[in-house]
Amino acid sequence: MKKRPTFFIKTFGCQMNRDDSSEMGRLLRGLGLRPAESDADADLVHINTCCVRQKAEDKFFSFLGVQRIRKEKHGRPIIGVGGCIPEKEDLRAGRQFVDYVVGAKHPQVYMAELAALIQSEFPGLDVPESMGPEATASAYQTVIRGCTNFCAYCVVPYVRGPEISEDPFKMRDEIAAKVEAGAREITLLGQNVLAYGYDLKPRRTLLDVIELIHDLPQLRRIRFVTSHPAWVKEEFVAGIAGMEKVCEHFHVPFQSGDDDVLERMHRGYTAAEYMEMIDMIREYYPGAGITADAIVGFPGETRANFDNTLKLIDRVRVDNIYSFKYSPRPLSESRDHDDVPDAEKKKRLAELNELEDGISRGINESLIGTDVEVMIESRSNSGGGRYYGRTRTSKLTDLACTRELRAGDTVTVRVTGATPHGIQGEVAGA
Ligand code: SAH
Ligand code: SF4
Repeated sequence: MKKRPTFFIKTFGCQMNRDDSSEMGRLLRGLGLRPAESDADADLVHINTCCVRQKAEDKFFSFLGVQRIRKEKHGRPIIGVGGCIPEKEDLRAGRQFVDYVVGAKHPQVYMAELAALIQSEFPGLDVPESMGPEATASAYQTVIRGCTNFCAYCVVPYVRGPEISEDPFKMRDEIAAKVEAGAREITLLGQNVLAYGYDLKPRRTLLDVIELIHDLPQLRRIRFVTSHPAWVKEEFVAGIAGMEKVCEHFHVPFQSGDDDVLERMHRGYTAAEYMEMIDMIREYYPGAGITADAIVGFPGETRANFDNTLKLIDRVRVDNIYSFKYSPRPLSESRDHDDVPDAEKKKRLAELNELEDGISRGINESLIGTDVEVMIESRSNSGGGRYYGRTRTSKLTDLACTRELRAGDTVTVRVTGATPHGIQGEVAGA
């Protein structure tokens, strides 16, 4: 029998890209290819790109360079590029070695072209029968693509286009299939997931989607990211408070704690409004996991502005902050105004992280001695009856269990230790 050609998918960037990558994997398997262990021996390499910060773009171009060298030497791999970068520049111009591109806005429309390419490169491939979703305990579902918030620093609205929500009933069927294939946790994804359904007729909300999938028997957990602070309404929080599978975790990026900077970023809320919104969440869910993103060194950010960010962090005391140095992005409003020196950005980033590390550690230490529900994600690298999992509040948990566990199992863990990045513990009674 002829050996099947193989593919490898490299993903940069957000969870929505990861979801697109698993769709792409499904498609390539459907066309008769099988997954390779690494990019080094794949016949086709698909790269899903991110351009939200310069660093992500640099990493992509260096990976692309490696593929190019292999192709020049060995004639393979076929190189495909998807995701955000092809939406802002013509990647094939001057790069004949890129065989195909798939944009992030409407990935479906490129698929016929890709299928034709694969059939001509690998003639006579027979198509395997099953095209079902992959079995992973934790699966993603993109519910809304695009963004129209136009935050001044951000390239996303330009590369991903306006908001397009998926049909709720079609998604219910897709999610049911993922659960059937073994998923126990579903994460509903969107740049602003709370904008879901406003573009649909009849209008829908994220709550409608959650209600449609909540009672799937094998499904244990439902998550949703990212929530834009201005869109977190009491009606939604009260709605999910009654649904036990919805995890009490909110990812609500504040970006800055200074009202002038927030206004110039066009974020649509003040620091006080952010604080009130978090208080409201905590009224419904006293132990809610709250995480956020922050940017230091946005154009014009003074020391006094930055001090207000530190003040907000100290008041709001969230579980974790993903922090970034401002990176000027093409097309975005603030692209030509990068005026905070890099050394100053680095210093502010370090100060922010030091403050937050203390807060995160304190919150995690307060859990020592308590029991938390953890869903297993993988075996720990250290082996020996140790596993990684996540609490409902999305805390990374490193745990010991004498019983054999599998991804997707939920266990009760007695917390015995804490760091700023997570908790350790052991399965009670095992
Ligand atoms: N849709 C999400 C953000 C997606 S981008 C939201 O609105 O929250 C993820 C994070 O990258 C952002 O929250 C922001 O903190 C950071 N980011 C985006 N553009 C950036 C830029 N130009 N420079 C530095 N960080 C940026
Ligand atoms: Fe970018 Fe703002 Fe849209 Fe998030 S909400 S994707 S930061 S424009």
